Amino acid sequence: FEIYVNSIVDAIENTRSFLFVFRDRTSEERADEMKNEFISIVSHELRTPLASVLGFMEILLHRDIPKPKQQKYMETIYKEANRLSNLINDFLDLQRMESGKQAYQMIPFDVSALVREVAEQWQGKQDHRIELRIEPGIHMTGDVDRMTQVMHNLLSNAIKYSPEADRVAVHIARSGDEAVIEVQDFGLGIPDEAKDKLFTKFYRVDNSDRRQIGGTGLGLSIVKEIVESHQGSLTFESELGVGSIFRIRVGMYRATGLGDKVVIIED
Ligand code: ADP
Repeated sequence: FEIYVNSIVDAIENTRSFLFVFRDRTSEERADEMKNEFISIVSHELRTPLASVLGFMEILLHRDIPKPKQQKYMETIYKEANRLSNLINDFLDLQRMESGKQAYQMIPFDVSALVREVAEQWQGKQDHRIELRIEPGIHMTGDVDRMTQVMHNLLSNAIKYSPEADRVAVHIARSGDEAVIEVQDFGLGIPDEAKDKLFTKFYRVDNSDRRQIGGTGLGLSIVKEIVESHQGSLTFESELGVGSIFRIRVGMYRATGLGDKVVIIED
């Protein structure tokens, strides 16, 4: 806070009034930071795919290009436009969440069922077999759509960053009064020097083993933001060339018991 004080002297009434102005500098600064960040992101992250879309479009429109080459250019345009669209969606999602504008619909739900459902959606879609170890009937209080997004992001990474592997594993179990969800892969792993930057917005590991793998560098930031909004924690263990485990811990829902019973109070 910054406080400004103005004193106003009224000579006729012979009184003195004070005007206090409280200004929340932190929230103004935060808004400024977000604006600056947005500008730097627009200039770096969005311009690159856009420049490539425009460049290829220009060639297609103004030059005589043989048919097979045209097809290749259009595929590149499509890929880059898609990247742009994902980047904008992820970025807006994250911005909404961080600014507190994302409303969470918190309800009790069966998170074992959610984990199974998302995993089954990936089953058969890729070359990877999804191994499930699900303890049934674990409930938590949370936003079903957002928790679904968390599972999709982690599974998509596990598959994307293990191109040589044929399986990923998904677990959920109780541990004390917490639900522990794990997504494990047997893929590229994360180099030690990248570990403390992994949840930083737009950070992508720049090793030669994954330069061809597309992404925005926002997926894990979104996962972390959502998990923490559920008072949960997100951690990982990883070894380069061996694989990674991403682990979420969230509090379990405990029914009070009153909800399921009809309580009759006699007078
Ligand atoms: P993106 O996948 O869009 O680049 P993320 O925020 O999801 O962004 O991940 C950040 C970086 O962390 C990725 O670029 C990738 O190198 C690394 N990473 C994430 N998940 C895994 C994983 N399961 N295995 C290996 N590396 C991973």
